[in-house]
Amino acid sequence: MSADYLIVGQGVAGSVLAWRLHQQGKTVQIVGNPNGPAASLAAAGIFNPLTGKKLVRTWKADQLFPFLHQFYTELETALGASFMHHTAIYRPYRSIEEQNSYLAQTADPVIEPFVAAHSNDEDYAPFIKNPYGGLTVTQAGWIDTKALLTAVRAYFIEKGQFVEATFQYDQLKVDAEGVEWNGQRFRKVIFCEGPEGNKNPFFDWLPYNPVKGQVLDVEIEGYSVQNIVNQGIFILPYAENKCRVGATYTWHDLDWETTEDGKQFLEVKLRDLLTVPYRIIGQRAGIRPATKDRRPLIGLHPEHPAVAIFNGLGTKGVSLAPFFADQFADYLEGRKELELAANISRHFSLYYHQKKLDL
Ligand SMILES: Cc1cc2nc3c(=O)[nH]c(=O)nc-3n(C[C@H](O)[C@H](O)[C@H](O)COP(=O)(O)OP(=O)(O)OC[C@H]3O[C@@H](n4cnc5c(N)ncnc54)[C@H](O)[C@@H]3O)c2cc1C
Repeated sequence: MSADYLIVGQGVAGSVLAWRLHQQGKTVQIVGNPNGPAASLAAAGIFNPLTGKKLVRTWKADQLFPFLHQFYTELETALGASFMHHTAIYRPYRSIEEQNSYLAQTADPVIEPFVAAHSNDEDYAPFIKNPYGGLTVTQAGWIDTKALLTAVRAYFIEKGQFVEATFQYDQLKVDAEGVEWNGQRFRKVIFCEGPEGNKNPFFDWLPYNPVKGQVLDVEIEGYSVQNIVNQGIFILPYAENKCRVGATYTWHDLDWETTEDGKQFLEVKLRDLLTVPYRIIGQRAGIRPATKDRRPLIGLHPEHPAVAIFNGLGTKGVSLAPFFADQFADYLEGRKELELAANISRHFSLYYHQKKLDL
């Protein structure tokens, strides 16, 4: 055996899974194309336990958040890199009604651990419209995904475990015991191709629901807000006087190109929220690897146990990847069952249905 696992794709999913397996003493070989399209490079990288207009706790937040804090902190130390930013998320109330309803919600023991007792509204007021004050969400922050990917890639390149290439499916040989690629043998191949995964002939039957997203980079003179601000859009300060603003969600024209519509949408919302001028200095677009039931796509192929997938991280790759990489690593090594809500076995009927039609 040349290595235990062949990992295809090095976005957040491939990076985090590769690291988890490596940490557990498994050998991995990554095939990635640093210049290929990647959701992770368009992402703002925010992890946020309370999302949506109605302040809903993110699925499994009580497990995902402690896990991700520990995972990324350890990874930073191991790689000697810095990519994790702990910041709260300030949500200005839109109205007195919203203030009342959010404050009532914070009494809920499911929400309460993620809300600060007090918000320093006056820190935001010079830049952000907050006539009704706002709520501060804790245990949040953002990952500089580009820095994360760069550090993980450098680590595996140095170890000779990273191949820069676009993976070709017809070069893979699959049998019951493992796979062969590039003259090397592996126990399993794990596809971590993000939104490109729907072109993979092994997994094209899965119910993907890709969502295009765009973000702007803006310059705001003298901006001194440290936290992320979130009201319909987010404003994420990433460098002195520089903020990332996003994001859009569209289910059509699923390409990687920025659009004037996307820019205008974000600008309208930004002008509504800001009290000061700004200047656009960049715009990015990407595709989120979302799924119809909004749950990850993880597991083994129904007929080829040596072929696996770690995908479908949707809008929350940064929060989901560490916890599910750990679960998947345990599952691959026969230590634990994989949670049904994330296991692609929930969709196997689609595979057999398609197979019947193909006959
Ligand atoms: C605008 C925008 C904002 C977002 N904001 C956030 C956010 O704030 N927080 C958050 O958690 N998530 C956010 N997301 C979602 C996040 O980007 C995804 O959940 C996450 O990046 C998915 O990671 P991935 O590794 O599965 O996919 P990707 O990052 O797309 O990685 C897949 C990799 O595989 C490579 N690949 C594919 N096919 C092949 C092949 N045949 N050979 C070699 N390599 C291949 C691709 O080039 C790519 O590098 C956002 C997404 C967008 C578009």
